[in-house]
Formats: sequence, C-alpha cells, structure tokens
Amino acid sequence: MTIQWFPGHMTRAKRQIQDKLKLIDLAIELLDARVPLSSRNPMIEEILNGKPRLIVLNKSDLADPRTTEQWMAYFASEGHECVAVDSSTGTRVGEIPMKAKEILHEKIARQAAKGMNPRAVRGLIVGIPNVGKSTLINRLAGRNIALTGDRPGITKGQQWIKVGTEMELLDTPGILWPKFEDELVGYRLAMIGSIREQVLNVDDIAFFAVRELAGRYWNTLAERYELDAPPKDAADSEEIVRVMEDIGRRRGCLISGGRVDLEKTSGIILRDLRAGKLGRITLEAPPY
Ligand code: GDP
Repeated sequence: MTIQWFPGHMTRAKRQIQDKLKLIDLAIELLDARVPLSSRNPMIEEILNGKPRLIVLNKSDLADPRTTEQWMAYFASEGHECVAVDSSTGTRVGEIPMKAKEILHEKIARQAAKGMNPRAVRGLIVGIPNVGKSTLINRLAGRNIALTGDRPGITKGQQWIKVGTEMELLDTPGILWPKFEDELVGYRLAMIGSIREQVLNVDDIAFFAVRELAGRYWNTLAERYELDAPPKDAADSEEIVRVMEDIGRRRGCLISGGRVDLEKTSGIILRDLRAGKLGRITLEAPPY
C-alpha cells in the first residue's frame, strides 16, 4: 500500500480519528517493534488528546527480543502500559484486553460503585500503514473481517467487534502517518517494507540497511553472507559499498567484467531482511 500523505490528508485522517475518540474508552497505539520510533506518529499525543492509551509493539517475532524488553521498560518509565505481540500468530495478543481493563480500572470501579454494570471496554486501533492493524483486529476478533478503509464518499456505519466478553473494538482502524520530514525514518520504514520501493531507490534502501546492520548486527550479516571483513568505519560510505559488493560476490550477482550487480544484491539483502533471514533485528533503541 502506498499512501501519499499531503497536509489535507493528514488533517482528514486526524479528524476521522478524533470523531471516533468520542465513541471509545481507550486507543491502542500500534507500533512496529523493529522501529518503534519511526513507526510512531509525531502528533499522537495531540491527536489522542489525553485519551487513555495502550502501546502495542507488533511484529515482535521479527524484532530483537532484548531491545523489545528495553522498549517495554522505557514505555513503562514514561507511564505507559505496553505489550509486545505477534499478530500473525496471535502470540501475547490475549494480553491486550487484560491490559486495557487494567488501564481503565478506576473508571470501571466508579461505574461499579454507582451500581452500573460495567460494560465492555471500547477500543480503537491506531497506527501507520502496514504496521499490522488489520491483522491484529482479525486476530482479536478470532475471525476474518472484511475491513474497509476510511474512504471519502463511502459512508459506513461503525461496527463494534466483540473481543471476548470484556472488550469491543471499532472495526475500522485509525490510520496515522509517519514522520516524513526525517529522511532516516523514510529509509527505516522502507527497509522493513512499509514504504513501497517506487518511492525510494532499492540500492539506497539496501545501502542504509547494510550501514545500520554493520554496526549492531555485524555478526548476523557476516554469518548469513559468509563475510570476513567488517567495515573499518561504518560511517564511511565506501566501506559500506565494499561490504555490499562482498555480499554480491558471495551470492554470484556479477555482471560483465566481473563487476557486482548492486541492484540485484540490494534486492537480495532487502528480501532477506524483511523475511527475518538476517535474524531478529531492531533498528531503534529507546532514547536514553
Ligand atoms: P495495516 O496496514 O496496518 O492494516 O497492516 P496489515 O494488517 O495489512 O499488515 C501488514 C503486513 O504485516 C501483512 O503482510 C501482515 O501479514 C504482516 N504482519 C502483521 N502483523 C504481523 C506480526 O505480528 N508479525 C509478522 N511477522 N507479520 C505481521
């Protein structure tokens, strides 16, 4: 999915979410566990305007488990409840309704004190494209639901999806946009396959990927492609291109004159990275 976000689209998306906020008790902010910063909407606080929030790190099956632990601790230190899940298999997804109830326990207790029967907690999933919103909704619902996006001109009544007996979700997630102004954010999202390659050049994305991996995940890279010479300086572009060429030679990506076909090599690196063949990788650590 490629969405071109313009100021008008952002305003509309923000309004669509804000309209839904009136219907819900809490927002479920879905982030990609591999890039919790880059998959975050820069205006999330402002958009949610104080609405209780549960942070869910999705695709944790592809992320470095140690860094995911650090992120959980970081969000907790910031006063947020957080769960790390894998929506594709459902691992730990069951914790979401439990955490939601925990976040709203005071409200629920107040209702009970007034003699009201506490109703199911009502939630809305929000996140940038491709972070796994539809997959998570289907997983929580326990069945496949045909999700229609918010499209102008199509009016559709909101449907509540039951998640067990204690939670209900709006069937249409809130779609947010990432922080485009930062070039690195764009490249990181492209690396994990969240931005289509028509927008950014494959060679450039792979270059960024190798540069990032050569620092923190050199051993994984070296093992996968049988490399023996780490870059002397990961900030040196020529060194990174040299590593890419080594990978290309190992994979037989050669063109006339024995030169390395960098485009083909780049394709291989990105496919491996996105398929988890370079191991469980997180590109962003908590900011402390
Ligand atoms: P949406 O645009 O936010 O609704 O994202 P989708 O639900 O369409 O998911 C985007 C892609 O990510 C799909 O190919 C999903 O199969 C995949 N996906 C979603 N959640 C997970 C997860 O937890 N782990 C893995 N490995 N893949 C996931």
